[in-house]
Amino acid sequence: FKHNPEGDAFLEDESTKIFARKVADHYSARTNQTLEEREASVIIHLKKLNNWIKSVLIQLYARKGDVVLDLACGKGGDLIKWDKAKIGYYVGIDIAEGSIEDCRTRYNGDADHHQRRKKFSFPARLICGDCYEARLDEVLADDAPFDICSCQFALHYSWSTEARARRALANVSALLRPGGTFIGTMPDANVIIKKLRQAEGMVFGNSVYWIRFDEEFSEKKFKSSSPFGIKYKFHLEDAVDCPEYIVPFHVFKSLAEEYDLELVFVKNSHEFVHEYMKRPDYVELMRRLGALGDGNQDQSTLSPDEWEVAYLYLSFVLRKRGQPDRT
Ligand code: SAM
Repeated sequence: FKHNPEGDAFLEDESTKIFARKVADHYSARTNQTLEEREASVIIHLKKLNNWIKSVLIQLYARKGDVVLDLACGKGGDLIKWDKAKIGYYVGIDIAEGSIEDCRTRYNGDADHHQRRKKFSFPARLICGDCYEARLDEVLADDAPFDICSCQFALHYSWSTEARARRALANVSALLRPGGTFIGTMPDANVIIKKLRQAEGMVFGNSVYWIRFDEEFSEKKFKSSSPFGIKYKFHLEDAVDCPEYIVPFHVFKSLAEEYDLELVFVKNSHEFVHEYMKRPDYVELMRRLGALGDGNQDQSTLSPDEWEVAYLYLSFVLRKRGQPDRT
């Protein structure tokens, strides 16, 4: 904790817990949509684009037989992607009880509302827990080491305090094998702060999202004070409505290095799309996922407002230091 007297540290800890609960309750309360409801969403193409980004990351880094840790796995939306990568074992953890239940249902193949499918070809362990508080090296001692750890659209929830951000990275580092990979996506703080600077007040957005900072937030304070706990409210139509935290990437990068996690790359989603859409196999994947217009390779079906939301995110890849003990 920062330089707080003990009493404040306790208060901060309590309010952090309340926010973690708020996030968990928010995601738990989101019920499964039917295929029709999903297709009718105003951000359906953004959802498809995000699925494409996650699929590309998985295809780039997962190898046959890999042992995978999915931090904040949610309802198991990536299970099929991991299955396609022919992984050997999967552990998924999420703080939201309802989401883990949905994930279990999806894994077991009952009532998969998206498609009837054969059973997954890998064994899995699904756990409800707080990835940014629990000592996962103890909880998962029998499952480690992992070849890949993935944390998709969720790592920013760890940035409420330094203690939680460190716990998240310590967990990943302790569980990955030397040479193992940590892949993820999270909001791009540079873009968010740039947009805040251009905004008239403390709020900005478009027809599908808005972001609001507290009045107390000021750029001056931002530059001089702690890089943790910089909270804003994020609303994304038909998806998210909860408190989130800014993750200044340079701080993330150097903190990760303290835990032997070295940056391989970081790319804003726009850059990610431009780079990987040069590969015909990923263009084809985009088409299969339905995130591309018919016939035209460059014509994404995303609305300009959805495309602006994509710009709010980045993807990162980190590698655990050390020599892999297998080829
Ligand atoms: N990774 C999934 C995906 O890409 O579909 C879910 C992403 S969803 C936007 C964010 C997830 O983070 C939610 O399922 C939420 O419950 C989870 N989450 C937030 N804080 C968490 C924490 N402290 N520990 C574990 N999961 C957490």
